[in-house]
Amino acid sequence: MELKVHPARWWEKEGEGKVRCLLCPRKCLIPDGGCGVCAVRLNRGGELVSQSYGYPVALQIDPIEKKPLRHFLPRSATFSIGTLGCNLKCVFCQNHHLSRGAYQKRLTYRYFEPAEIAQLAKRHGCASVSFTYNEPTVFGEYVIDAADAAHELGLKTVLVSNAYINLEAAKEIYPLMDAANIDVKGFSEAYYREMCGGTLKPVTDAVEFYRNTVGGHVELTYLVIPGKNDSDKMIDDYLDWVESRLGIDTPLHFTAYHPDYQYSESPRTPLELLYKIQNHALADRNFPNVYLGNIC
Ligand code: SF4
Ligand code: SF4
Repeated sequence: MELKVHPARWWEKEGEGKVRCLLCPRKCLIPDGGCGVCAVRLNRGGELVSQSYGYPVALQIDPIEKKPLRHFLPRSATFSIGTLGCNLKCVFCQNHHLSRGAYQKRLTYRYFEPAEIAQLAKRHGCASVSFTYNEPTVFGEYVIDAADAAHELGLKTVLVSNAYINLEAAKEIYPLMDAANIDVKGFSEAYYREMCGGTLKPVTDAVEFYRNTVGGHVELTYLVIPGKNDSDKMIDDYLDWVESRLGIDTPLHFTAYHPDYQYSESPRTPLELLYKIQNHALADRNFPNVYLGNIC
């Protein structure tokens, strides 16, 4: 099946038919016929196009608490969509069937107009549309159009993201989001390089922009991987940043990891470790809203 492609935003021509995508910090230089690291933004004849626009491959109704959001439309249902592709390369990715997937000609996909997403959400009694599962940044053009359609029907919008985005794109996408849950995967540049193939600074910049300039509701999720990002120092560095740049009332979620995809060197996160981090944040650091997730 030949997929329709959609003109991309956030790119420039580089000569010799190449284009540079400016959506995320990778700034991929893509030759004609090639695609970026995320696998869904393509150079077609010297123009950047999005292959994921209109082609969500995961659609589901979730409780909003599953995003996880605990301080936004509590006990409501959210219409969740995700596509293929991601701009980070987390070795522990728990959604790798989507994040590392690529659209293939031999498969059949269903095209959804942005308005159709909003109508489906409304029809199923959802209070919001969530852009989630893989990284919504890579289908940012579709996020913008579906968010507009959702707002026209009186629905709220939710972004569940790694925040690995350039501010030029964030300025167009983030003001359309009523709430966000952002993954902060660890709190050092070395961790982001080793475990995610990315960098931390653009993430903190984007979160601060959303919280402080856009004024959006943000909750943060930190996947605790034993022996990798659970040191007292790293947790305190993270809490210091949240407290000083976002506010101590920012809802924090610490979630349990299980071995997945390319990474199995750490054991499942013990419950005691999650409780220790939660107690430290609550009792020692006075954060009022600290939650645990992925607990079986
Ligand atoms: S969004 Fe995709 S194509 Fe664009 S810079 Fe990031 S990884 Fe590369
Ligand atoms: S950012 Fe999320 S979806 Fe992308 S690779 Fe990392 S864990 Fe997977």
